[in-house]
Amino acid sequence: MTADATAVPEADWDRAVALVRAADTVALACHVTPDGDALGSMLGFGLALRAAGKHVVASFGDRGFTVPRLLRFLPGQDLLVEPAAYPAEPSLMMTFDASTMDRLGLLAPNAGKAAELVVVDHHVSNTRFGSLHLVDPGAASTTMLVERLAGRLGLTVDRDVATCLYAGLVTDTGSFRYSATTPAAHAMAGRLIAAGLDPDAIARELWDRSPFAYLRVLGAALDRVTLEPAGAGGRGLVWTYLTRADRARHGLPYDEVEGVIDVIRRVDEAEVAVVLKEDDEGGWNVSTRSKGAVDVARACTALGGGGHPCAAGFSSTLSPEETMASLRPLLTPDAA
Ligand code: AMP
Ligand code: MN
Ligand code: MN
Repeated sequence: MTADATAVPEADWDRAVALVRAADTVALACHVTPDGDALGSMLGFGLALRAAGKHVVASFGDRGFTVPRLLRFLPGQDLLVEPAAYPAEPSLMMTFDASTMDRLGLLAPNAGKAAELVVVDHHVSNTRFGSLHLVDPGAASTTMLVERLAGRLGLTVDRDVATCLYAGLVTDTGSFRYSATTPAAHAMAGRLIAAGLDPDAIARELWDRSPFAYLRVLGAALDRVTLEPAGAGGRGLVWTYLTRADRARHGLPYDEVEGVIDVIRRVDEAEVAVVLKEDDEGGWNVSTRSKGAVDVARACTALGGGGHPCAAGFSSTLSPEETMASLRPLLTPDAA
C-alpha cells in the first residue's frame, strides 16, 4: 500500500490541530506491551508538545507497566505515569499505534470517558474507536502521522523528538527492509537524521545487543523449531515456542525475546513463521510473519489479535500445540 495524502481528510487534520491548540493538558496513550512505534510516536509527540508549553501525561495500560529494556534509551520517559495515575476522564486524550480500544489495556476505560479521543494510527485493521481519527494505512509507521501533525501544529522536531520518531520508523520498516519502506519513509528518515540523531547508536540499542542469556534461550527455541513444508497452503510453515521455564532457567526477562521471530522468519522453505512466547503470568503472545503471499493479519484478527498483512500477532491461553491447531487452517495464501 502506498501513502495516501487523502487518507485523513483535511478537515480532520484541522480539527486535531484546533483540539491540541485549545488544550492545556493532553493525555497520551499507546498500545500495551509497547514496541518502538507505539512508544516512539507517543513520546516524540509528547516531548514536542511539552516544549510548546503543554502539560503532557503519557502512559500505556500494562499491569506490570515497565518500558521494555530495549526501548529505555528513548528520550521523554519522564512523561510517563502509571495507569493508576492517569486522568480518569481526560478532556483531550490521544492514542498512538493502537488499532482497537482493547489494545489500550488498562487505559481503555479512561479512553471511554475522554471528552475527545484522537486516534493516531496506521493499521488497516483500525476500528475507528475515537471521536477523531488520524489513521493512514499507507503510512509506514504511526510516527509518520505524528510528524505530519507536529508540522501542522508548528512544533519543533529537535534531536530528542527525532530520536523517538526515528525509533518508530525503523522498527516498523524493519530498518527499511519491509514492504512499508516507501520513498516517504526514507525522506522522513533524512529529515530526522538532519535533526541530529545518531542512527548507529539507535540501531545498536534496538537490534544489536542482548544479555548472554538470550543466546541460551534462543538455543532452546531453535532446538524445538519445526518446519512443516505442507503448511501455509503448501508454501511452508516454520514455528517454535518459548516457555517461561526456558527464560527462568537462564534468568531472561520476557522483554528480551522479541527478536526470536527475526531469526525464525529467515527460513527459505517457509512462507510463514510463528513464534509463541509465554509471559511471566503463563499467557502466550504469538508473533506471526509472512513473506507476502499469506495475510497473517487476517489470520490473527480471526483469533482476536491483529496487525499488518506481513507482521501480526494475537494472545492465547492454550498450549502451543492447541494454538497452532487453530492457527494452521487460517494460514492460506491469498487468491491470486
Ligand atoms: P509482534 O509479533 O509482537 O512484533 O507484533 C506484530 C504486529 O502485530 C504488531 O505491530 C501489532 O500491530 C500486531 N499485534 C501483535 N499482537 C497483537 C494483539 N494481541 N492484538 C492486536 N494486534 C497485535
Ligand atoms: Mn506497534
Ligand atoms: Mn506501528
